[in-house]
Parts: sequence; structure tokens; C-alpha cells
Amino acid sequence: MQQPAPSTSLPERARRVIPGGVNSGQRNVPGLTDLVISRAQGASFWDSDGRQYTDYHAAFGPPLLGHNDPDVAGAVAEAGRKLDLCGVGVTEGEIELAETLVELIPSMERVLLTSTGSEATFHALRVARAVTGRRLVVKFQGCYHGWHDSVSLNVISAPERVGGKDPISTGILPEVLDATLVLRFNDPDGVRAAFAEHGADIAAVIVEPVPHNVGCLLPEQEFLQTLRDECTAHGSVLVFDEVITGIRHGLAGWQGVSGVVPDLTTMGKAIANGYPVGALGGRADLMDQFSSRPGAPVFFAGTYNGHPAVVAAALATLRKLRAEPVHEHVFRLGERVRAELPGVLAPLGVPAVVTGYGSVFVTYFMDELPRTYEDLLANDTGMFVGYRRRMVDQGIFELPLNLKRSHLSYAHTDADVDRLLEATERAVREQLA
Ligand code: PLP
Repeated sequence: MQQPAPSTSLPERARRVIPGGVNSGQRNVPGLTDLVISRAQGASFWDSDGRQYTDYHAAFGPPLLGHNDPDVAGAVAEAGRKLDLCGVGVTEGEIELAETLVELIPSMERVLLTSTGSEATFHALRVARAVTGRRLVVKFQGCYHGWHDSVSLNVISAPERVGGKDPISTGILPEVLDATLVLRFNDPDGVRAAFAEHGADIAAVIVEPVPHNVGCLLPEQEFLQTLRDECTAHGSVLVFDEVITGIRHGLAGWQGVSGVVPDLTTMGKAIANGYPVGALGGRADLMDQFSSRPGAPVFFAGTYNGHPAVVAAALATLRKLRAEPVHEHVFRLGERVRAELPGVLAPLGVPAVVTGYGSVFVTYFMDELPRTYEDLLANDTGMFVGYRRRMVDQGIFELPLNLKRSHLSYAHTDADVDRLLEATERAVREQLA
């Protein structure tokens, strides 16, 4: 076996055996390709040189309680001592978790667990096509629903590719891309027009009710209601992808905030505070089509679905979220950031708007709050990425990739927000110099 020379650095060793040295295309961050993480606790993580970073990236969203929360870590350790995986039957924990999600999420009459959000959105579209016998899926420019082919297009698109089909990967069959219609977010007329033309062939509409994969576009009520009304009128399945918004923005998800109830809901991330989880739930007549039910036709499987350690993490997370003022805390800190950051940036003379919801915030370098993806094309990408690189140099970690959102957790404090405001002012000033 080839052993690394003792002097070989960890990033060099990583790049020799892992393509690019990281395990996700989303971790391939220019300027940070040598980052080796060694530990995370509360609102911080540390690299292998012992540098501490206050973490606003939050692994794209899961650790709402903060990293390595003692209650979650304790529950996982206890589960690990008792049970790993049997792959047959069901555990008491899975029943309790399903009961909890059904109780919390308005659209969920039944729920199935997966290991990732991508699996949940994949199965949502498969069952929608199965029950309707239709071909087309509607998604919106700027929304991300995972890595599978039907939704792997038109997430973050260059200006010249907006309005066309813009796959995020090669290797996707053209006929799969043809079967996905891409519409504009917050454009109810566009939705009505698409249904007028293709309604009889639309199996599903899938949407991030708040498109956080481009930072934050707040949905207009008429838009979400139009999705509901058009799907109902044409017999199409409405899927809210609440992988980010579910739990983080409230225990009832965005459907609880907006009152618009989809047919199916996908979840993940914050449910288990950092352990690999996904969930798909919704109307009983749709969920009962999955082959977990004897004789049902829509194949559903996954070796690690409902893994005891993940289920223990989710139960401990949801218990804590219900027992302690987690949402109150993160919402208050989020309000502080959104209220105070514009005042910090105004004297610098740079066009900037701060938006978000609850624990999520993002600063765009443009004049007006965006309503649609097209509005985001005005964002100054160089500033957006540049000031964040300078923040990272100061030990404040906002992911230096264009349009990425930032997250607060229960472990962040007012002192952290004070430091964030100071560091942002300094970083933007340096970037402008
Ligand atoms: N849906 C949304 C809204 C997401 O943000 C993500 C991941 O970022 C996914 C689905 C896919 O989830 P996963 O990465 O767990 O497969």
C-alpha cells in the first residue's frame, strides 16, 4: 500500500486520493482548497492549524442548535451503544419521529425517512409522475432540489443562460431536461401561462418556498397561492421543498408561515442538527403509493433510511426545539443583523441590501431588495465573494461563494453579532480600497 511521505500536507494527501480533495462540488471553494477541519463546537469550528472560525456557513444549514450540541451528541452516543442497523422492521424511534413530523408539518399525513434531501425530492417527483401518469415537472430558476437529473438545472445561472435550459452537470439526457419546465420565481402570471399551455402534462411543481440557494428571495403570497390553485385546478402535485425552511424557519415550516399547504413536503438538514437525514411526507393517498406499503407500486428503499443514530439526533433536536426558546433566540439575532448591518454599511457608500428570514441573512451588493432571480443579476459578485474572503481571514466564516446565505444558531450570542457587524464593516471597507 502506498503510504504518504511524513512531510506531505493533509490537503496534498487529500488531493491525491479524493478528486479536488473534498467530498462535494459545493465544498470546492476558491481560496479555501487547503482548509482541513478538525473540530466544531457551538458557534465555531477549528481548522487543523488550530484557527477558530465563528461559523455562519453552518454546513449549508443543519446545525440550528449549534455544532455538536450536547443533547444531540448524547442521544447519538446512547443510540450507538444500543443499536446500529438491522434493516428490517421499524424502531420505536422511527415511529416517534414520524409521529412528531406528522404532528408538526401541516401537509404531512404520512412520512418516510431518507438519508438526504436529494433522495426526498427524487421520490417526490417519482410518485407525482406515477400517480398522474404525466411527464413534466416545473421548477423555478434559482431553486436547488439536490443532485438528481430532473432538477439539476437552472440553479445559479449566468445572465446569458437565464431563460434557457441551463444544466448544472454534463451527463444528463436531453429528454430528461426536456421534461423539466423552468419558470420565474414570484411570477404568478408565468405560472398561469405555463399551466394554460401544458397543464394536462404537468405531474408536479417543485419549489423552495423561500429560494435560499440564491441567498433569500422572499415569496409573495399571491405567487405561492397561485401554485396551490393551479396545481389543484389541473390535478398536479405541489411539492414544497422545505429542506432548508422546514424546522429552521418554524416548527411547521414555511407552510406554517404562509398558510399555503402543499401536497408533498421534503425536509432534511435542521431536523437532525447535522446528521444525515431527509424526509418526504404529505397526503396519505400519495404516500401510500410507496412500496414500503405491501403491494404499492412506487419503489422506495434505502439501506440507511431511519438509521437509529440519525433518528436519535432528530428526536433530541426536535425535543430541544420544542422545549427551549431556540427560534426566539435565532430570530432575535437575525433581526439584529438585518436591522443593524445596513447602518454599518451605509457610510461606506457601497450599494448594499440585507435580507433574510429568521436565522438566515444575506447581504447583496445592489440597490434594491431582489424579488426574482433576474433581479439578482445586479448583485456585485466581486464584492459579495471578496468581502467574505476577508471575513474568513478575520476568523468569521461566511461562505465565499456567490449568493450563499448565512445562518445563525442557538449557540451564537449578541457578542458574536457585534463582532460580525464590526468584521463586515472592516472587510467591506478593505474590499473597496
Ligand atoms: N433541497 C434543498 C432546498 C436544498 O437546499 C438541498 C441541499 O442543499 C437539497 C434539497 C438536497 O439535500 P441533500 O444535500 O441533503 O441531498
